[in-house]
Order: sequence, then structure tokens, then C-alpha cells
Amino acid sequence: MYDVIIIGAGPAGLSAATYAGRAGLNCLILESTMYGGQITSTSEVENYPALKKTAGWELAENLYQQAVSFGAKLNFEEVKSIIDDGMLKTVVTPENAYVTKTVIIANGAKRRHLGVEGEDELSGKGVSYCAFCDGSFFKDKTVCVCGGGNTALEDALYLSNICKTVYLVHRRNEYRAQKHIIDIVNKTENIVPVLSYVPVKISGENTVQSITLKQVETGEEKLIETDAVFVCIGLSPENNAFAEIVELDKNGYIVADESCETTCKGIFAAGDTRTKVLRQIVTAASDGAVAATAALTYINQTEG
Ligand code: NAP
Repeated sequence: MYDVIIIGAGPAGLSAATYAGRAGLNCLILESTMYGGQITSTSEVENYPALKKTAGWELAENLYQQAVSFGAKLNFEEVKSIIDDGMLKTVVTPENAYVTKTVIIANGAKRRHLGVEGEDELSGKGVSYCAFCDGSFFKDKTVCVCGGGNTALEDALYLSNICKTVYLVHRRNEYRAQKHIIDIVNKTENIVPVLSYVPVKISGENTVQSITLKQVETGEEKLIETDAVFVCIGLSPENNAFAEIVELDKNGYIVADESCETTCKGIFAAGDTRTKVLRQIVTAASDGAVAATAALTYINQTEG
């Protein structure tokens, strides 16, 4: 039996594992793909306190090694459900059913899709959700980035160093990214802003050849020839597996406040998966610390 099972090995889950391990809790992390979460697809992180510019993968590696050094164990298994047996919980994967005193859900959120014609068919054939992973395939080519937030603008900047031209398509006439990133984008010659347009179709035979855009006010359509479309339009939670055991908000995020407690006693939620105003690495890591400490308090109270 475990003291705590952590679902997800991103910054929230790994930070929770470090705090749990340091507190002497017997801890297992379950992760379906790769440890590090979204930061593994971020080229550089420059806003994590006290760290100068750091590659996303490097931060992920350090977080992982730190958690392991305090005794956390990581299994690559996808969690399908949690069963609440009162004092104990059972975390179910296709391979195992693990019994634990507490659970910390730290499964993050996934990149949102545009939902336009051609997107799914050309996914992996020029449609990408990770500029850092796939940008190098388009060296000296023309690419298109969709979105107006921090991710879209950072990805456009990253791609501008590799590609010939980067079209930056956004549905409003101003970006929502941080001002200093906007300023750099505006000064970057090979980034071409295409404001007040929404993507309606991605086309190509076997690989992406063009994207069709619609002007939001006039409805006028135009086609841009491009070798790739990078979709950077935000995140959506993937909490269906937990919908019956903890309350979700109207957008599908787990209802949990600053104490990371969910509506089910002994289950905590940390990082991007929960209701919160700012989804950042630092807030995810902070949640991990809070959730692990809350799990320790819960165990002490229920056993004491
Ligand atoms: P975001 O801030 O939610 O921005 C998503 C962008 O996509 C918005 O500009 C939105 O347009 C647009 N969009 C959404 N749905 C669309 C659709 N169907 N068609 C066209 N455009 C659509 O998402 P994000 O940039 O991925 O960032 C997620 C979180 O991570 C944010 O809290 C962000 O601050 C944070 N982040 C921080 C950093 C950093 O600090 N270095 C880096 C990356 C991400 P509207 O503006 O019209 O809504």
C-alpha cells in the first residue's frame, strides 16, 4: 500500500513527489507518457524564479531527478479510474490496481485543437501542436502559427529562428500574450501578423500545403500557402476519468482551491488540472508542494 499516488509527472506531480518523499511518505507516480509534461515541448523557460533561461527538457529532467532522489518511484501506466473505499483509494490502470491512502491528481491539461477541416487528417503531416518538437522539420520553409497567447507568440519566435517566414494568425486585432513577448514579436522581421482572421480549413495532399482563413468581420476568405500549421490555442483538461469521484467545473477542471483539496476526502488536485487563475510552471510546482503537505496532514489526522 502507498501513502500517496501521484497521477502525472509534470512540474506539479514531480514537485508533489519531492515534498512527499522529503516528508517520509511512500510515494508512487503514475504517468502515461513522458515525465516533464508540457515543459518538455517548451524550448526555453525564462520565468521560473531563480533560474536563468533553461531548456524545458532540462528543467523536466532536474525535477524528475530531484523527486527520485527523495525516494519517489515512477511507473509508466495510464490511470483509468479511482475507486473511493473511504479511508483507502484504489487507483486503476490497465495493468494494476494500486491501493493508497491519498491521491494527488496532477495530470495537467492538453493542447486544444482548432476543430477545422483537414486538421486531424494532416496531424503529424504538417499540423503540429509542438513547435519545439517539430520546428526543425521546417527549416527555411514557410509555417503558420495559430493563436494569440504566450504559447503562440513564443512558438512563433522560436520558429522565426528556423523558418523563412512565420505567419502568426490570431482571431483578434491584439494579442493576449505578455507585453515584452509582443514587443519582440513585433520587431521580428520574418514574423508576419495576420490579425482578425480565424482558420477554417487546412489543405494538402499527404502534407500541409495551405491554410484557409476567414476575416472575422467581413467574412472574406483568403488562402495562405504554408508547409506547416502550428496550433497554439490553449489548453483543455482531460478529467473524464475522474468526473465521478471529484467535482469538475463547467470547463472540466477539477474544483480545488489554494489548499488543493477536492470534493473527495483524501484526493487532492495540483497544477493545470485544477481551477485556477494562472497556469504556469511556478504555480504548478507550488500546488505540488501544497498538495503533498495536505496529503501528509490528512494521513496524520485520519491515522492519529
Ligand atoms: P491562452 O493564453 O489560453 O491563449 C490561447 C489563444 O488561442 C488565445 O489568443 C485565443 O484567442 C486563441 N484561441 C483559442 N481558441 C481558438 C480557436 N478555436 N481558434 C482560434 N484561436 C483560438 O493559451 P496559451 O498561450 O497556450 O497559454 C496557456 C497558459 O500558459 C496561459 O496561462 C499562459 O499565460 C501560460 N503560458 C505562459 C508562458 C510564459 O509565461 N512564458 C508561456 C506559455 C504559456 P482569444 O485571445 O481570442 O481568446
